[in-house]
Amino acid sequence: MENIGHSHEIAQTTLEFLSKHELVSTPINFEIIYTYTQGYNKSLILAVNQVIRSEVADKSSALEDIHTKLISSNASANKVDEITNQMADEVDQVTAMISAALGETNSYSEKLGEVTDELSSNVDSAAVKSIVESLMLATEDMKKNSSLLEGKLAESNRQISELSGSLSEVRAEARTDQLTGIANRKYFDETIETEIATAKEKKSDLCVLIGDIDHFKRFNDTFGHQTGDQVLRLVASTLSDGVKGRDMVARYGGEEFAIVLTKTGLAAAKKIANKIRRAVEGKELVKRSTGENLGSITICFGIASYRNGEPIDDLIGRADNALYFAKHSGRNQVRSEKEVPKPKKALA
Ligand code: GH3
Ligand code: MG
Ligand code: MG
Repeated sequence: MENIGHSHEIAQTTLEFLSKHELVSTPINFEIIYTYTQGYNKSLILAVNQVIRSEVADKSSALEDIHTKLISSNASANKVDEITNQMADEVDQVTAMISAALGETNSYSEKLGEVTDELSSNVDSAAVKSIVESLMLATEDMKKNSSLLEGKLAESNRQISELSGSLSEVRAEARTDQLTGIANRKYFDETIETEIATAKEKKSDLCVLIGDIDHFKRFNDTFGHQTGDQVLRLVASTLSDGVKGRDMVARYGGEEFAIVLTKTGLAAAKKIANKIRRAVEGKELVKRSTGENLGSITICFGIASYRNGEPIDDLIGRADNALYFAKHSGRNQVRSEKEVPKPKKALA
Protein backbone atom coordinates (compact mmCIF):
# COMPACT_ATOMS: atom_id res chain seq x y z
CA MET A 1 0.00 0.00 0.00
CA GLU A 2 1.19 3.52 -0.88
CA ASN A 3 1.96 5.95 1.94
CA ILE A 4 0.01 9.25 2.20
CA GLY A 5 3.00 11.52 1.57
CA HIS A 6 3.93 9.68 -1.60
CA SER A 7 0.32 9.69 -2.93
CA HIS A 8 0.04 13.48 -2.27
CA GLU A 9 3.26 13.96 -4.18
CA ILE A 10 1.87 11.94 -7.12
CA ALA A 11 -1.44 13.89 -6.98
CA GLN A 12 0.50 17.15 -6.96
CA THR A 13 2.59 16.10 -9.97
CA THR A 14 -0.61 14.90 -11.69
CA LEU A 15 -2.28 18.33 -11.24
CA GLU A 16 0.82 20.15 -12.47
CA PHE A 17 0.95 17.82 -15.52
CA LEU A 18 -2.75 18.45 -16.31
CA SER A 19 -2.30 22.20 -16.00
CA LYS A 20 0.95 22.23 -18.01
CA HIS A 21 -0.69 20.35 -20.92
CA GLU A 22 -3.94 22.29 -20.63
CA LEU A 23 -5.96 19.25 -19.72
CA VAL A 24 -9.18 19.60 -17.76
CA SER A 25 -9.02 18.00 -14.31
CA THR A 26 -11.87 15.54 -14.91
CA PRO A 27 -11.90 12.37 -12.83
CA ILE A 28 -10.99 10.33 -15.94
CA ASN A 29 -8.08 12.64 -16.90
CA PHE A 30 -6.93 12.71 -13.30
CA GLU A 31 -6.99 8.90 -13.09
CA ILE A 32 -5.05 8.53 -16.35
CA ILE A 33 -2.36 11.04 -15.44
CA TYR A 34 -2.19 9.80 -11.85
CA THR A 35 -1.49 6.27 -13.24
CA TYR A 36 0.96 7.83 -15.74
CA THR A 37 2.81 9.62 -12.94
CA GLN A 38 3.02 6.42 -10.88
CA GLY A 39 5.16 5.10 -13.73
CA TYR A 40 4.19 1.40 -13.55
CA ASN A 41 1.83 1.04 -16.49
CA LYS A 42 4.19 1.04 -19.46
CA SER A 43 1.56 0.77 -22.22
CA LEU A 44 -0.38 3.68 -20.65
CA ILE A 45 2.76 5.87 -20.44
CA LEU A 46 3.47 5.22 -24.11
CA ALA A 47 -0.13 6.00 -25.11
CA VAL A 48 -0.24 9.24 -23.03
CA ASN A 49 3.14 10.40 -24.40
CA GLN A 50 1.79 9.87 -27.90
CA VAL A 51 -1.28 12.01 -27.17
CA ILE A 52 0.74 14.79 -25.48
CA ARG A 53 3.22 15.00 -28.32
CA SER A 54 0.56 14.85 -31.01
CA GLU A 55 -1.16 17.80 -32.56
CA VAL A 56 -4.65 16.41 -31.82
CA ALA A 57 -7.11 19.15 -30.89
CA ASP A 58 -9.26 17.16 -28.52
CA LYS A 59 -6.68 15.65 -26.22
CA SER A 60 -9.40 14.90 -23.63
CA SER A 61 -11.29 12.47 -25.88
CA ALA A 62 -7.96 10.83 -26.85
CA LEU A 63 -7.23 10.35 -23.16
CA GLU A 64 -10.74 8.95 -22.69
CA ASP A 65 -9.93 6.31 -25.32
CA ILE A 66 -6.81 5.42 -23.37
CA HIS A 67 -8.93 5.17 -20.23
CA THR A 68 -11.38 2.79 -21.94
CA LYS A 69 -8.61 0.65 -23.36
CA LEU A 70 -6.12 0.56 -20.54
CA ILE A 71 -7.89 1.43 -17.30
CA SER A 72 -11.54 0.31 -17.66
CA SER A 73 -10.43 -2.98 -19.20
CA ASN A 74 -8.17 -3.43 -16.19
CA ALA A 75 -11.24 -3.04 -13.98
CA SER A 76 -13.04 -5.73 -15.90
CA ALA A 77 -9.86 -7.79 -15.80
CA ASN A 78 -10.03 -7.49 -12.03
CA LYS A 79 -13.60 -8.79 -12.19
CA VAL A 80 -12.46 -11.66 -14.42
CA ASP A 81 -9.72 -12.33 -11.90
CA GLU A 82 -12.28 -12.52 -9.13
CA ILE A 83 -14.51 -14.89 -11.09
CA THR A 84 -11.61 -17.05 -12.19
CA ASN A 85 -10.44 -17.27 -8.60
CA GLN A 86 -13.90 -18.48 -7.60
CA MET A 87 -13.79 -20.96 -10.46
CA ALA A 88 -10.36 -22.08 -9.34
CA ASP A 89 -11.81 -22.63 -5.86
CA GLU A 90 -14.65 -24.65 -7.35
CA VAL A 91 -12.17 -26.65 -9.38
CA ASP A 92 -10.09 -27.21 -6.24
CA GLN A 93 -13.18 -28.49 -4.45
CA VAL A 94 -14.09 -30.81 -7.32
CA THR A 95 -10.49 -32.01 -7.40
CA ALA A 96 -10.62 -32.69 -3.68
CA MET A 97 -13.91 -34.53 -4.09
CA ILE A 98 -12.56 -36.64 -6.92
CA SER A 99 -9.38 -37.36 -5.03
CA ALA A 100 -11.42 -38.34 -1.99
CA ALA A 101 -13.75 -40.47 -4.10
CA LEU A 102 -11.04 -42.23 -6.02
CA GLY A 103 -8.45 -42.13 -3.31
CA GLU A 104 -5.86 -40.93 -5.76
CA THR A 105 -5.17 -38.11 -8.15
CA ASN A 106 -6.11 -39.14 -11.65
CA SER A 107 -5.54 -37.47 -14.98
CA TYR A 108 -8.73 -35.46 -14.59
CA SER A 109 -7.66 -33.81 -11.38
CA GLU A 110 -4.27 -33.17 -12.98
CA LYS A 111 -6.07 -31.43 -15.82
CA LEU A 112 -8.10 -29.45 -13.32
CA GLY A 113 -4.89 -28.53 -11.56
CA GLU A 114 -3.47 -27.22 -14.84
CA VAL A 115 -6.65 -25.25 -15.41
CA THR A 116 -6.41 -23.76 -11.93
CA ASP A 117 -2.87 -22.59 -12.71
CA GLU A 118 -4.00 -21.12 -16.02
CA LEU A 119 -6.92 -19.38 -14.37
CA SER A 120 -4.62 -17.66 -11.93
CA SER A 121 -2.24 -16.46 -14.64
CA ASN A 122 -4.70 -15.56 -17.44
CA VAL A 123 -6.99 -12.64 -17.08
CA ASP A 124 -8.39 -11.88 -20.50
CA SER A 125 -11.78 -13.27 -21.39
CA ALA A 126 -10.56 -15.16 -24.49
CA ALA A 127 -8.12 -17.11 -22.37
CA VAL A 128 -10.79 -17.79 -19.77
CA LYS A 129 -13.12 -19.00 -22.53
CA SER A 130 -10.54 -21.43 -23.83
CA ILE A 131 -9.75 -22.60 -20.31
CA VAL A 132 -13.44 -23.19 -19.64
CA GLU A 133 -13.69 -25.08 -22.93
CA SER A 134 -10.76 -27.30 -22.06
CA LEU A 135 -12.27 -27.79 -18.63
CA MET A 136 -15.53 -28.87 -20.25
CA LEU A 137 -13.67 -31.29 -22.52
CA ALA A 138 -11.82 -32.71 -19.55
CA THR A 139 -15.13 -32.99 -17.70
CA GLU A 140 -16.63 -34.86 -20.66
CA ASP A 141 -13.63 -37.20 -20.60
CA MET A 142 -14.05 -37.61 -16.88
CA LYS A 143 -17.74 -38.42 -17.37
CA LYS A 144 -16.74 -41.15 -19.79
CA ASN A 145 -13.98 -42.28 -17.46
CA SER A 146 -16.22 -42.31 -14.43
CA SER A 147 -18.94 -44.29 -16.19
CA LEU A 148 -16.18 -46.62 -17.37
CA LEU A 149 -14.85 -46.70 -13.83
CA GLU A 150 -18.37 -47.31 -12.53
CA GLY A 151 -18.77 -50.15 -15.00
CA LYS A 152 -15.41 -51.57 -14.05
CA LEU A 153 -16.22 -51.28 -10.35
CA ALA A 154 -19.58 -52.97 -10.88
CA GLU A 155 -17.87 -55.70 -12.90
CA SER A 156 -15.12 -56.24 -10.33
CA ASN A 157 -17.76 -56.15 -7.60
CA ARG A 158 -19.68 -58.87 -9.44
CA GLN A 159 -16.48 -60.84 -9.91
CA ILE A 160 -15.51 -60.44 -6.27
CA SER A 161 -18.88 -61.66 -5.02
CA GLU A 162 -18.70 -64.52 -7.50
CA LEU A 163 -15.20 -65.35 -6.28
CA SER A 164 -16.21 -65.08 -2.65
CA GLY A 165 -19.17 -67.36 -3.44
CA SER A 166 -16.81 -69.89 -5.03
CA LEU A 167 -14.44 -69.44 -2.12
CA SER A 168 -17.16 -70.32 0.41
CA GLU A 169 -18.14 -73.28 -1.76
CA VAL A 170 -14.53 -74.46 -1.89
CA ARG A 171 -14.17 -73.88 1.84
CA ALA A 172 -17.37 -75.80 2.59
CA GLU A 173 -16.20 -78.58 0.28
CA ALA A 174 -12.83 -78.73 2.02
CA ARG A 175 -14.63 -79.20 5.35
CA THR A 176 -17.04 -81.81 4.14
CA ASP A 177 -16.70 -85.56 3.94
CA GLN A 178 -17.66 -86.46 0.38
CA LEU A 179 -19.38 -89.75 1.17
CA THR A 180 -21.57 -88.70 4.10
CA GLY A 181 -21.85 -84.90 3.69
CA ILE A 182 -20.94 -84.25 7.34
CA ALA A 183 -17.73 -82.55 8.60
CA ASN A 184 -14.49 -84.32 7.76
CA ARG A 185 -11.53 -85.12 9.99
CA LYS A 186 -9.68 -81.97 8.97
CA TYR A 187 -12.58 -79.76 9.98
CA PHE A 188 -12.99 -81.70 13.20
CA ASP A 189 -9.34 -81.05 14.09
CA GLU A 190 -9.76 -77.33 13.43
CA THR A 191 -13.05 -77.02 15.26
CA ILE A 192 -12.06 -78.92 18.36
CA GLU A 193 -9.15 -76.53 18.80
CA THR A 194 -11.38 -73.46 18.78
CA GLU A 195 -14.00 -75.15 20.94
CA ILE A 196 -11.33 -76.08 23.49
CA ALA A 197 -10.04 -72.50 23.49
CA THR A 198 -13.58 -71.30 24.22
CA ALA A 199 -14.10 -73.93 26.94
CA LYS A 200 -10.80 -72.88 28.54
CA GLU A 201 -11.68 -69.20 28.43
CA LYS A 202 -15.23 -69.65 29.72
CA LYS A 203 -14.27 -72.51 32.04
CA SER A 204 -17.12 -74.55 30.58
CA ASP A 205 -17.41 -78.32 30.10
CA LEU A 206 -16.60 -80.01 26.83
CA CYS A 207 -16.87 -83.68 25.90
CA VAL A 208 -15.60 -85.69 22.98
CA LEU A 209 -17.38 -88.80 21.77
CA ILE A 210 -15.73 -91.30 19.46
CA GLY A 211 -18.15 -93.72 17.80
CA ASP A 212 -17.30 -96.85 15.83
CA ILE A 213 -19.74 -99.10 13.95
CA ASP A 214 -19.75 -102.65 15.29
CA HIS A 215 -18.57 -105.48 13.03
CA PHE A 216 -18.72 -103.29 10.01
CA LYS A 217 -16.21 -105.41 8.15
CA ARG A 218 -18.60 -108.29 8.44
CA PHE A 219 -21.46 -106.11 7.19
CA ASN A 220 -19.44 -105.08 4.12
CA ASP A 221 -18.38 -108.62 3.48
CA THR A 222 -21.99 -109.79 3.62
CA PHE A 223 -23.82 -107.06 1.71
CA GLY A 224 -21.13 -105.38 -0.35
CA HIS A 225 -19.16 -102.20 -0.06
CA GLN A 226 -21.77 -100.04 -1.77
CA THR A 227 -24.44 -101.07 0.71
CA GLY A 228 -21.86 -100.40 3.41
CA ASP A 229 -21.53 -96.86 2.04
CA GLN A 230 -25.30 -96.37 2.29
CA VAL A 231 -25.12 -97.46 5.91
CA LEU A 232 -22.32 -94.96 6.60
CA ARG A 233 -24.58 -92.19 5.21
CA LEU A 234 -27.47 -93.34 7.36
CA VAL A 235 -25.34 -93.50 10.51
CA ALA A 236 -23.91 -90.02 9.75
CA SER A 237 -27.36 -88.48 9.47
CA THR A 238 -28.59 -90.29 12.58
CA LEU A 239 -25.65 -88.89 14.53
CA SER A 240 -26.26 -85.38 13.17
CA ASP A 241 -29.92 -85.60 14.14
CA GLY A 242 -28.88 -86.56 17.66
CA VAL A 243 -26.99 -83.33 18.42
CA LYS A 244 -27.99 -79.70 18.32
CA GLY A 245 -26.67 -76.15 17.98
CA ARG A 246 -22.93 -75.84 17.75
CA ASP A 247 -22.23 -79.50 18.58
CA MET A 248 -20.28 -81.00 15.75
CA VAL A 249 -20.45 -84.44 14.19
CA ALA A 250 -17.56 -85.46 11.95
CA ARG A 251 -16.47 -88.56 10.09
CA TYR A 252 -13.26 -89.33 11.93
CA GLY A 253 -12.09 -92.30 9.86
CA GLY A 254 -13.54 -95.18 7.82
CA GLU A 255 -16.47 -96.23 10.03
CA GLU A 256 -15.57 -94.00 12.95
CA PHE A 257 -17.26 -90.79 13.94
CA ALA A 258 -16.37 -88.02 16.39
CA ILE A 259 -18.72 -85.68 18.18
CA VAL A 260 -17.84 -82.54 20.17
CA LEU A 261 -20.40 -81.61 22.78
CA THR A 262 -19.89 -78.09 24.13
CA LYS A 263 -21.09 -77.03 27.60
CA THR A 264 -21.70 -80.67 28.40
CA GLY A 265 -20.33 -82.79 31.24
CA LEU A 266 -19.69 -86.58 31.19
CA ALA A 267 -23.10 -87.59 32.57
CA ALA A 268 -25.09 -85.52 30.06
CA ALA A 269 -22.78 -86.61 27.25
CA LYS A 270 -23.41 -90.26 28.14
CA LYS A 271 -27.18 -89.71 27.92
CA ILE A 272 -26.83 -88.10 24.48
CA ALA A 273 -24.52 -90.89 23.29
CA ASN A 274 -26.95 -93.56 24.46
CA LYS A 275 -29.84 -91.81 22.74
CA ILE A 276 -27.84 -91.79 19.48
CA ARG A 277 -26.75 -95.41 19.98
CA ARG A 278 -30.40 -96.45 20.33
CA ALA A 279 -31.40 -94.41 17.28
CA VAL A 280 -28.74 -96.22 15.19
CA GLU A 281 -29.82 -99.59 16.52
CA GLY A 282 -33.43 -98.72 15.73
CA LYS A 283 -32.85 -98.10 12.02
CA GLU A 284 -34.14 -100.91 9.91
CA LEU A 285 -31.79 -101.43 7.00
CA VAL A 286 -33.48 -102.21 3.70
CA LYS A 287 -31.51 -102.64 0.47
CA ARG A 288 -32.99 -100.09 -1.91
CA SER A 289 -32.46 -101.98 -5.15
CA THR A 290 -34.01 -105.26 -3.97
CA GLY A 291 -36.03 -104.30 -0.89
CA GLU A 292 -34.06 -106.97 0.97
CA ASN A 293 -34.12 -106.54 4.76
CA LEU A 294 -30.55 -106.28 6.05
CA GLY A 295 -31.37 -106.27 9.73
CA SER A 296 -29.74 -103.53 11.82
CA ILE A 297 -26.34 -102.31 12.86
CA THR A 298 -25.02 -101.11 16.16
CA ILE A 299 -22.42 -98.59 17.29
CA CYS A 300 -20.16 -98.09 20.31
CA PHE A 301 -19.19 -94.77 21.89
CA GLY A 302 -16.29 -93.79 24.09
CA ILE A 303 -16.53 -90.46 25.95
CA ALA A 304 -13.89 -88.20 27.52
CA SER A 305 -14.20 -84.82 29.19
CA TYR A 306 -11.69 -82.02 28.58
CA ARG A 307 -9.25 -81.32 31.41
CA ASN A 308 -8.07 -77.76 31.54
CA GLY A 309 -4.78 -77.21 29.78
CA GLU A 310 -4.29 -80.76 28.49
CA PRO A 311 -3.20 -81.49 24.88
CA ILE A 312 -6.03 -82.44 22.49
CA ASP A 313 -4.37 -85.83 21.84
CA ASP A 314 -4.74 -86.76 25.51
CA LEU A 315 -8.47 -85.99 25.39
CA ILE A 316 -8.94 -88.01 22.18
CA GLY A 317 -6.76 -90.80 23.65
CA ARG A 318 -9.04 -91.17 26.68
CA ALA A 319 -12.17 -91.21 24.45
CA ASP A 320 -10.48 -93.92 22.35
CA ASN A 321 -9.70 -95.98 25.46
CA ALA A 322 -13.31 -95.70 26.53
CA LEU A 323 -14.41 -96.84 23.05
CA TYR A 324 -12.04 -99.79 23.23
CA PHE A 325 -13.55 -100.67 26.57
CA ALA A 326 -17.09 -100.37 25.12
CA LYS A 327 -16.15 -102.82 22.33
CA HIS A 328 -14.77 -105.24 24.86
CA SER A 329 -17.84 -104.89 27.03
CA GLY A 330 -19.87 -106.58 24.31
CA ARG A 331 -20.46 -103.82 21.64
CA ASN A 332 -23.59 -101.66 21.21
CA GLN A 333 -22.33 -99.86 24.32
CA VAL A 334 -21.47 -96.38 25.57
CA ARG A 335 -18.55 -95.99 27.97
CA SER A 336 -17.08 -92.89 29.54
CA GLU A 337 -13.45 -92.48 30.57
CA LYS A 338 -14.54 -92.83 34.21
CA GLU A 339 -15.72 -96.40 33.60
CA VAL A 340 -12.50 -97.58 32.07
CA PRO A 341 -10.73 -99.91 34.56
CA LYS A 342 -7.22 -98.59 35.24
CA PRO A 343 -5.26 -101.70 34.18
CA LYS A 344 -6.99 -101.69 30.78
CA LYS A 345 -5.23 -98.43 29.99
CA ALA A 346 -2.14 -100.48 29.33
CA LEU A 347 -3.91 -102.03 26.36
CA ALA A 348 -4.33 -98.71 24.64
P1 GH3 B 1 -15.45 -103.54 15.37
O1 GH3 B 1 -16.80 -103.86 15.87
O2 GH3 B 1 -14.37 -104.07 16.24
O3 GH3 B 1 -15.31 -102.10 15.13
O4 GH3 B 1 -15.31 -104.33 14.01
P2 GH3 B 1 -15.23 -103.67 12.58
O5 GH3 B 1 -15.39 -104.72 11.58
O6 GH3 B 1 -16.17 -102.52 12.45
O7 GH3 B 1 -13.78 -103.08 12.60
P3 GH3 B 1 -12.59 -103.20 11.61
O8 GH3 B 1 -11.67 -102.05 11.99
O9 GH3 B 1 -12.03 -104.57 11.64
O10 GH3 B 1 -13.18 -102.91 10.19
C1 GH3 B 1 -13.62 -101.65 9.80
C2 GH3 B 1 -14.28 -101.82 8.49
O11 GH3 B 1 -14.98 -100.65 8.06
C3 GH3 B 1 -13.32 -102.13 7.38
C4 GH3 B 1 -14.04 -101.66 6.15
O12 GH3 B 1 -14.65 -102.74 5.52
C5 GH3 B 1 -15.12 -100.75 6.68
N1 GH3 B 1 -14.99 -99.42 6.09
C6 GH3 B 1 -14.12 -98.48 6.40
N2 GH3 B 1 -14.33 -97.38 5.61
C7 GH3 B 1 -15.37 -97.68 4.78
C8 GH3 B 1 -16.06 -96.99 3.72
O13 GH3 B 1 -15.76 -95.86 3.38
N3 GH3 B 1 -17.09 -97.64 3.11
C9 GH3 B 1 -17.45 -98.88 3.46
N4 GH3 B 1 -18.46 -99.47 2.84
N5 GH3 B 1 -16.82 -99.56 4.44
C10 GH3 B 1 -15.80 -98.99 5.08
MG1 MG C 1 -12.98 -98.97 13.39
MG1 MG D 1 -15.93 -100.88 13.68
